[in-house]
Amino acid sequence: MGTARGVDPFAESEDQSALRQLARETAQREVAPDSRSRDESGEAPLTVAKALAAADLLRVTVPEEYGGLGYGDVEASIVLEEVARVDVSSAIWCQLTFNGPPRGIQHLGSERLKQQWLPSVADGDALLSIGITEPDAGSAVHQMRTSLTKHGSGWRLNGYKNFSTLGHVAQGILVWCRWPGGSGAKGIGAVVIPTDRQGVSITGVHAGMGIHSATEAEVAFDDVEVTEDDVLIAGDPHNTDAFKVLLGHLNHERCGNASMCVGAAQGAFEYAISHLNDRIIDGQPLADRQGLQWKLADMAIELESARMHLRRAVHLAGVAGTPPPLETAMAKAAANRAAKFVCDESIQLLGGYGYSREYPLERAYRDIRGLCIGAGTIEAQLNYVGSNVARGRSSSSPGWVPQNFG
Ligand SMILES: Cc1cc2nc3c(=O)[nH]c(=O)nc-3n(C[C@H](O)[C@H](O)[C@H](O)COP(=O)(O)OP(=O)(O)OC[C@H]3O[C@@H](n4cnc5c(N)ncnc54)[C@H](O)[C@@H]3O)c2cc1C
Repeated sequence: MGTARGVDPFAESEDQSALRQLARETAQREVAPDSRSRDESGEAPLTVAKALAAADLLRVTVPEEYGGLGYGDVEASIVLEEVARVDVSSAIWCQLTFNGPPRGIQHLGSERLKQQWLPSVADGDALLSIGITEPDAGSAVHQMRTSLTKHGSGWRLNGYKNFSTLGHVAQGILVWCRWPGGSGAKGIGAVVIPTDRQGVSITGVHAGMGIHSATEAEVAFDDVEVTEDDVLIAGDPHNTDAFKVLLGHLNHERCGNASMCVGAAQGAFEYAISHLNDRIIDGQPLADRQGLQWKLADMAIELESARMHLRRAVHLAGVAGTPPPLETAMAKAAANRAAKFVCDESIQLLGGYGYSREYPLERAYRDIRGLCIGAGTIEAQLNYVGSNVARGRSSSSPGWVPQNFG
């Protein structure tokens, strides 16, 4: 059999391999041990965040001038994979730090907003949550009602946001809201509000199927004072420009979501393989059964396919860019589906132990289930991919060029 002589286009650099190693060791040492008890108690991963910060792992995407390492989406993806490999809830903290509001502030924010938030999120002293979804505006986000009304030289913010991950723990929240006079997608922009400001209140915390220690909050805004200093990007009631910029930024979050799915599935896959090798039935390890090897083969193929979609999307972002939308939508859908399949089959391969709370697989399955809904559902990704390919649009990567079938 000939050996491969080509070059892996997604091979990690020395720095990236070292970052993966650091993230793996830190996750194994600091994240894994209490992950089950946090899942049982619902305690937020505050101690974990401190440990990740101490290992410099929360600095990954923050620019160097604000105390970060200045890396891009590839490195964010590496850390997210490794932390989610042992605990998705803890990876969510990294996700909010790498691909949530700080990324928006870094690209769009004023110097004042950058100074206010970026050094403290890099140090693990602050967390920013995301306020986009509302009861009547989930997938149809342009139906949002949360709005600014003019008040003196600034505004007053009124509205209600649902499913804001770790909103009850965060020091600040990035709120998508409507500027005066806007309707539909026109006039939607975003502000960043400290959660201790008068008029901001946590009205509930969801009890979800999974992600128990990084659950979602309901946040109300009651006549909250907003000044020019709080504005991330202003909505113009005459156009959808700001809304489009904000939507584009979600591609970071979607790649982060896909990274957590790949990482969690990888962890479940490794656990199942180890179990099959250890479990002896009729004098033979289960891993020797061809029927089970075929399952492993299908799992490996699904997982690697999703990983390649993801790698392509994050590599296309470059160091300072944003992952392109079509590749990102494909990566998120592929990773969500692969994680569902791989975690489900891993449970099956462990039999009763897979189903038991004493083993980590049922937790991984419950956790990734939420990732298939957050950051845009699988169906929302399929809508985007389908509507684009139906119009003959194709990926921007050189690997997939339009064909002329005429
Ligand atoms: C774990 C988790 C974390 C989250 N974190 C945050 C957060 O931090 N901040 C935040 O703002 N939000 C967050 N969300 C909310 C999330 O973004 C929304 O739940 C999601 O966008 C779907 O909106 P919805 O729940 O209103 O469902 P709906 O939009 O009502 O959708 C219901 C179903 O219909 C499908 N559907 C809807 N429209 C279409 C269509 N046009 N074509 C085909 N199918 C369609 C959907 O795919 C879904 O299956 C989180 C959700 C979860 C589960």
